[in-house]
Amino acid sequence: MTIYDGKAVFEGVAIGKLSVYKKQEQSVKRVKTDDAEAEKKRYEEARNTAIEQLKGLYEKAVKEVGESGAEIFEAHQLMVDDEDFIESVENIIETESVNAEYAVAQTGDNFYKMFSEMEEEYFRGRAADIKDITERLINALSGAGAGGIQSEEPVIVVADDLAPSETVQMDKDKILSFVTVHGSANSHTSILAKTMSIPALIGCPVPLDDSVDGKLAVVDGYEGRLYVEPDDEVLAAKKKLLLEEEEKKNLLERLKGKENVTLDGQKINLYANIGNTKDLGLVLKNDAGGIGLFRSEFIYLGSDDYPTEEEQFAIYKQVAQTLAGKKVIIRTLDIGADKQADYFDLPKEENPAMGMRAIRICLTRPEVFKTQLRAILRASAFGKISIMFPMIISVDEVKKIKAIVEDIKKELDADGFAYDKNIELGIMIETPAAVMVADELAEEVDFFSVGTNDLTQYTLAIDRQNQSLDEFYDSHHPAIMRMLAMIADAAHRHGAWAGICGELGADLSLTKEFLAMGYDELSVSPGRILPIRKTVLETNVAEYKAGRK
Ligand code: PEP
Ligand code: MG
Repeated sequence: MTIYDGKAVFEGVAIGKLSVYKKQEQSVKRVKTDDAEAEKKRYEEARNTAIEQLKGLYEKAVKEVGESGAEIFEAHQLMVDDEDFIESVENIIETESVNAEYAVAQTGDNFYKMFSEMEEEYFRGRAADIKDITERLINALSGAGAGGIQSEEPVIVVADDLAPSETVQMDKDKILSFVTVHGSANSHTSILAKTMSIPALIGCPVPLDDSVDGKLAVVDGYEGRLYVEPDDEVLAAKKKLLLEEEEKKNLLERLKGKENVTLDGQKINLYANIGNTKDLGLVLKNDAGGIGLFRSEFIYLGSDDYPTEEEQFAIYKQVAQTLAGKKVIIRTLDIGADKQADYFDLPKEENPAMGMRAIRICLTRPEVFKTQLRAILRASAFGKISIMFPMIISVDEVKKIKAIVEDIKKELDADGFAYDKNIELGIMIETPAAVMVADELAEEVDFFSVGTNDLTQYTLAIDRQNQSLDEFYDSHHPAIMRMLAMIADAAHRHGAWAGICGELGADLSLTKEFLAMGYDELSVSPGRILPIRKTVLETNVAEYKAGRK
């Protein structure tokens, strides 16, 4: 038995034969040519072929891993069409009177070097993408096809490194795991592996030769280890672990389509948190009952200037339509503190977390707020949208907001736009002040959603960004637990519903407690929905309450 240690990028266990993946050899020859125009034409055709292949890969990846995982193939299409790259290739063809393959290989090398020498890690990571598109273009020029991994039986793929396109082209049914000698945890390949839920190791110094090819092996993504020709003891232990894992996975899969209801009949909504439309695939895949927090500020953060009403309307409409009548809670702009966009030109503050952020910006810059509200309200004609306001501290703020919403509704009536006249309005409870006046606030709104990330920071006086305070950060602090109970009670006393959309909502050790408190909804990252559903289905709330007294 030989053991190789690597870095796990996705948990899980795989047992099977190793298959050493070798990239297609491409030796590019420099060939002199008199017909530069013909070479440029060949290059153009190769670009079209590459784009078609990438479109196909994109479609495949969207189905398998959702839009965010597939994004890389859109990025590759842009790279193939990149003007600087094209100009460089054409220039080499013309000035050196050489074949297109050679010009592409030269340009690819130059761009690869440029990216890998950049200071920012993100750009260094993109160097691998340059290599990937260069190989694709050369293959297209030489008619070598799109490449791919072939194997008859399911295998553990070992490789020097894997390009994102290689990972996605793998027939997942035949791939148990992959192990690479190189690769970074932030690479798209790692991200894809996570989304595809395949156990994977990177940085594993395994020899890529016959000493491993075809041998039985175990990948343990918990330990970050590869066992080649494991002894009987290791094999038996890992087989047991694998069985347990498979049981867990099957169980979760079987929970799709099931209602979130406890043994004694209490129901709870399990919704997803999203940052942008690219996460929608995961929302559907994980069987979310709706979207409980759409962090709309990411639209602003991804823009160079204030996003217009039309731009925002298109996004909100897409989300509402995709969710097809399921609830979509759009949180209005929560910018400031750690989320900064230059064009807002916010003054530098001593204490940004306690400064001009979220609803405070919206109320002091009504034109920005109104643009967003018009876009959300217009999109509400296309699905079931609710609006949620962040960082509330007073009833007065809520009254002001409601008056603005009423004004916008009148404007839209006058402009002839359709919208949901009974649109739900809710607030985030994420300041201790809001907890203390929760009864009065509940009279004003349809729902509360607790932002435990900020509520914990403001209650414990611990900056959520400051890692050195981790030892003091107790997310189960009794102060927070009592506040959570108070918030749900206050909402229910006044006919409002209550949910949790901060990270604590996904804490499985508290699911029973949240049910006991009477929470109506938990909004969590999509991958957490089925594990929570499992706990809900196994809980008897009355028994749990009796037991904790
Ligand atoms: C929170 O504060 O818990 C929350 C959900 O909002 P954000 O993390 O975006 O501040
Ligand atoms: Mg918050």
